[in-house]
Amino acid sequence: MILHNVQLVNTGQVVDIGIGDGKIVKISPAAADDIKAISQIHFNNAIAFPGLINSHDHLDFNLFPQFGNRTYKNYTEWGAYIHQQFKQEIADVLKVPAHLRILWGIYKNLLCGVTTVVNHGERLTINDALITIFEETLDLHSAAFEKGWKFKLNNPLKKNLPVVIHTGEGTDEAASKEIDSLIYWNKLHKNLIGIHAVAMTGKQANHFKGIVWCPQSNYFLLSKTAAIQELKQQTSILFGTDSTLTSNWNIWDHIHMAHKNGLLTDEELYQSLTTRAAMIWKMNTGELTEDKDADIVVARKIEAHTKLDAFYAVAPVDLLLVMHRGNIRLFDQELLVQLAPYLENRHFSLIKINDAYKYIEGNIAELIEQIRSYLPEFVFPIEVIDHQIV
Ligand SMILES: [Zn+2]
Repeated sequence: MILHNVQLVNTGQVVDIGIGDGKIVKISPAAADDIKAISQIHFNNAIAFPGLINSHDHLDFNLFPQFGNRTYKNYTEWGAYIHQQFKQEIADVLKVPAHLRILWGIYKNLLCGVTTVVNHGERLTINDALITIFEETLDLHSAAFEKGWKFKLNNPLKKNLPVVIHTGEGTDEAASKEIDSLIYWNKLHKNLIGIHAVAMTGKQANHFKGIVWCPQSNYFLLSKTAAIQELKQQTSILFGTDSTLTSNWNIWDHIHMAHKNGLLTDEELYQSLTTRAAMIWKMNTGELTEDKDADIVVARKIEAHTKLDAFYAVAPVDLLLVMHRGNIRLFDQELLVQLAPYLENRHFSLIKINDAYKYIEGNIAELIEQIRSYLPEFVFPIEVIDHQIV
């Protein structure tokens, strides 16, 4: 299959992208338009970029609303507060079976063009997921909430896995000291990936292979985010959403916020969601070049925007196509006729998001019905119109 006539957001080049066996096989300057050409999907006025990498989420926590109503000193204060204040609400959400909560977490990401999520928590090992769930990590919750974290951190059997841990999620001294303690106890010098790092200094950052920046979650909880301009001099900055417990479901909302606050340059922010993340997690994605996994998003180009400005103008409503390892997972209804030959016998749901109609793989109507049997009040950001086999 060839995606014809799309503009790459990093270079501005208009290209054809050839896909075979789940990989990108060829990128070439867009050929003259030949509407009848076989196995071409024709685009007009469209941009393309790699499927996004969300480097921090808890897939099973995305049926929670944002809990909290003030600024907290650190995550332990917030945790104690919500367990006391929202005891019943938390119990209600946890009554929804985990596999349903996780499936919704996957859709939350896919709806935005995220094709890889680094899930934090217990290993899910889901077969045939609609996106890549990256779990080649040793996850520790945090120094405060992970029992025996020093022993787990120094488990020699898992020496090659990066250690992913919430750290420095606070604005007080405890949050800062926790980072020092983590650095001190990393006796085997494992690769540390710190989540949040709001209390982190450049000197501390030097001990980390990467930091996952979740600005929206930070502002919600702490009214402050990490000193990214300082930290980026010392370590790699990746981008994450965290779950809906502390942030909006839509990663584009987070990206627009980060773009506006300017702590990363436009290029750095883009890389934190693509190439840089792929490099740190050692994944064959995050780039539209030959031999990479065909994780591709095509979106409608907003007039007058070029290159990365066009990328930063995107919202879920603009997505025309989301491809994961060469499989079409989501597409705008305007592409149905062109795509139908590639989708035989596959299940898609027709959904409405804002005023746009999209097809998304799977039976999302059934999922929503099942979730609503436990949580009748839950408001989904989409409306399901129909379920069909193409
Ligand atoms: Zn988290």
